[in-house]
Formats: sequence, C-alpha cells, structure tokens
Amino acid sequence: MLQTTSADLLALSALAPDDVTGYVVAGALGVPILLGLVVGLLRRGRGGSSAGGRPRPGVDYRPGVGDDAEEPRDTPRREVETLPLPDVHGSTAVDADELEELLARPSLDTPDPVAGRLVRLRARLARSNNVLGKGLLTLLSRDDVDEATWEEIEDTLIGADLGTGPALELVERLRSRLAVEGGGDVRAVLRSELVRAVDPSFDRSLAVTPHPGQGPHRPAVVLVVGVNGVGKTTTVGKLARVLVAQDKDVVLGAADTFRAAAAEQLTTWGDRVGVPTVRSHTEGADPASVAFDAVKAGVDLGADVVLVDTAGRLQNKRDLMDQLGKLKRVMERHGPVDEVLLVLDATTGQNGLSQARVFAEAVDITGIVLTKLDGTAKGGIVITVQRELGVPVKLVGLGEGADDLAPFDAETFVDALLD
Ligand code: GDP
Repeated sequence: MLQTTSADLLALSALAPDDVTGYVVAGALGVPILLGLVVGLLRRGRGGSSAGGRPRPGVDYRPGVGDDAEEPRDTPRREVETLPLPDVHGSTAVDADELEELLARPSLDTPDPVAGRLVRLRARLARSNNVLGKGLLTLLSRDDVDEATWEEIEDTLIGADLGTGPALELVERLRSRLAVEGGGDVRAVLRSELVRAVDPSFDRSLAVTPHPGQGPHRPAVVLVVGVNGVGKTTTVGKLARVLVAQDKDVVLGAADTFRAAAAEQLTTWGDRVGVPTVRSHTEGADPASVAFDAVKAGVDLGADVVLVDTAGRLQNKRDLMDQLGKLKRVMERHGPVDEVLLVLDATTGQNGLSQARVFAEAVDITGIVLTKLDGTAKGGIVITVQRELGVPVKLVGLGEGADDLAPFDAETFVDALLD
C-alpha cells in the first residue's frame, strides 16, 4: 500500500507530469528517497539544475528506476573545432635547420610502368593524327577510288609531313595491292602498308645496359642532343623516370651550362625520383668537364646508366661540331658513349629535318626522340626522319606530363592512327 504524507503532497504539486512516476515509485521505497527528491527540487529552485532546466540524475538527485544510468548517447555534444597548431618553427625541441631540411625533402614519385605506355597514350596520337589514319581509311573505303581520290590520298600523306618520295611510294603500293586484292579488307591493307613504311625491322631498344668486365664498373652512357626548345631537358628527365621504373640506377649530367635554369630543371626531375644530378653552379662552365664528371660519378656510384643533357644554343655548324665532338671525346675517356639520342620537335616539320641533318653531321646519332607528337597532325615525320637519317625513332613524347614519354613501336603507332 502506498502511504502519502502531507510532505509528499507538497512535493507532488511541484513535479512535472513525467516526474510523477519517479515520485510514486520513490514513495514506495520510503521516506529517505522522498527527502532526497525534495532536496533536489529545492536545489532546482535555487538555480542548481542542469542547463536544460531538468534535474540531473546522479547530480541533482539519487537516480531511480527510469533514470538514465549514464549520459544518453544522443545528448548534444561540442562541435569539432579547428584548433591552432603550435608553431613548429618556433619550437625549441626541434633543430630549425633540420626541420627545414625535413620539410624541403621531396617525397619520391613512383613513375608509371613502361610496358604498354604507348598503348595508354595512343588516344593522344589518334586525336591529333586522325586525318592521317582515319582520314586515309575513309578515302580508301569509297565505292569508287578514282584518280581524284588517289590525289587526295597523296595530299593527305604529304600534309602529314610524310615527304613527297615516301608519300608517292606508299600510294603506289596501296594502288597495286588494292588492285590485286580487290576491295577486300581495305583497313588491313592500309595498316600493313603504314607499318611497313614505319619499318618494324629497326632495332629500337635503348643501349642502357652497363658493361660488365674485368676492369672498373662502367655504366651505359647516353648523350642527348638537339636544338634549344625541342624538349631536351624534359626528355632527359622523363627518360630518367623510364629507367627508374625499370629498376635502373641513374645519374644525370647537366651539361647545358649556358642556361642556369636547365641545370635547375634537370635537378628537380632527378630529385623527384631520387636520382643524383651532376651540375656546375658556374654559368658558362665547360660542358665537357660537367659531362666527364657525370660519367665519373656514374662509375664511382656503380650506376647502370648516365644520361647527359647538352646545350642547344650554338651559333653555327662549326660551333656545334666542335662542342659535340669535344664533349664526346672527353666522355669517352671513361669508355664509349653507348647512345646518342637526337631530340626533334615533331611540330617543326621541315625545319626539324634540316636540324637533324646538321646534328647527324656533327655526331653519330643512334636514335631519335620525337617530342610533342601530341600536338601535331604530322605523324608522318616519323617515317621521313628515319629515312633521312637511317636511324630509328626510339622514343616519342606525347605530352607535358612526367610520364608522357613512351618507347616507340611501329605497330602500336599505326594502330593508334587507325583507331
Ligand atoms: P630544351 O630547351 O630542349 O631543353 O626544352 P625543354 O625541355 O625546356 O622543353 C621545352 C618545352 O617543351 C617545355 O614547355 C616542355 O614541357 C615542352 N615539351 C617537351 N616535351 C613535350 C611533349 O612531348 N609534348 C608537349 N606537348 N610538350 C613537350
């Protein structure tokens, strides 16, 4: 039986409706609890209650049945705030120089894998060279390929920098094959004739294997030449990434001493993949001595490959021959130069070809790097320059991105044009 006293009634009149249950149950438990409740209510009257205005169990009164044992999960909490971090530069616990060095140290990039790069980048080729590829295919697929069409085909080839000789030869071969084979698989005929013109028989591998032997370790040495602005320094940087992706130890040599920014630029490329760069801090220093030091560093460090960037700003042919001749001779004191890559800007067309001729006279070119093929519809330059110099295109630049340099392959190239 519940016993209700006058004190109980007094307390009951001050309770909110949902407090009543607690009160009634508490009454059943006896007077001490009831007194606690009354004291709690009085405290509430004096402003001792929770922020929400309700008495807090365990704080304002002893908790009873129906009270929460602990703070409910859905109680509003403090918002997440951004607190100011302590100024690490001002910290006395860390050495300031050490900290600067740590903050400045670049985290190393992981270059893209090399296998399949041309396939990955072929959309860029297809976009800029769709006249050469799909344009030709459309012309050849006409119901009636008449004389006017053949002339259009010839013009398309010449417009893509194929050169008159190779263009006429290709037209003749297409004409006779399609005459013999009929209007069958035009695409297959065009593909095979373009592949033939690009010449899959060239050895396009890069000589980047170090030379084992009885004597001191000798890295493979690659000299990179070409006129200013063709993308030489960028190509050396990208090539370093290609080689790092193939697990090779590389040393860079910044022998373009005419342009301080070139050494700076090359060092940045090297730093990104953890490759050391040998450079001179004196503008106009002797490029041959920088190249010599770079190869020596490669020997001392046991590197697999040394890549040497050179200056392109030379007055005339005599100057070029003297410079490159000396550079090569000095480097050869360590052993033969394995690869001389000529970098050509694919967008410069005939101008690029005459540059190529001058360089080929100055030094024995072993491979061509065609840069900026992403920005030109003149993919035919691949065929022309190979014919002109008799050396293969080994690498192509297809963008300004760090991994936009790809090993060249005749079939993938033609497939990209016809895609
Ligand atoms: P260098 O004077 O021959 O050493 O030329 P740089 O390496 O300084 O390059 C000149 C410019 O060509 C830079 O803006 C490069 O980003 C750009 N470049 C180099 N290769 C390519 C390429 O394959 N595609 C495009 N679109 N730009 C390139």
